[in-house]
Amino acid sequence: MVPKKTKSKLRIIPLGGLGEIGKNMTVFEYEEDIFVVDCGLAFPEDEMLGIDLVIPDITYLVKNSQKVRGIVLTHGHEDHIGGLPYILQELNVPLYGTKLTLGLVENKLREHNLLRSTERINVSPGETIALGKHFKVEFIRSNHSIADAVMLAIGTPMGVLIHSGDFKVDYTPISGATLDLHRLAELGRKKSFSFNGR
Ligand SMILES: [Zn+2]
Repeated sequence: MVPKKTKSKLRIIPLGGLGEIGKNMTVFEYEEDIFVVDCGLAFPEDEMLGIDLVIPDITYLVKNSQKVRGIVLTHGHEDHIGGLPYILQELNVPLYGTKLTLGLVENKLREHNLLRSTERINVSPGETIALGKHFKVEFIRSNHSIADAVMLAIGTPMGVLIHSGDFKVDYTPISGATLDLHRLAELGRKKSFSFNGR
């Protein structure tokens, strides 16, 4: 994908997880397309009496709900998926994730009676999805303290972004599959970009 000249802006808006621990959620927006990476929760600080959980403020997304193409999940930790049952009640959009991540999400959705009403799309590392007209997202195999974690290569009209998610470089992971350093190196080398399998 060669970046095109345009006056439109690519917006990256952290709704949580930046400068704090927990409730990771990042919005990507270009023209009429928005997608979201992760939807976590945080646990309350000592002074937040009577509060059980803290979730990101999604007012901006609810206001722009007709633009939101989906939520892409990097892995199944609470600070990345724990907000979903609450947020999906206000914003019913498809979820994209790997098998284990979606499995953990499904348990939560079942508890909150949201399983049937939520579209879930299983994506394997190496696969690319299209989100609206402007975004493509390739899942890249990663390693973390939970299995089936991915990094994301995000194709936008302004160029390619890498969202690393949480990761560690582990040459002997329990699952056997190591972080796809080769693909990351390839993405770093290329000036113009083509997604896996396209
Ligand atoms: Zn994590």
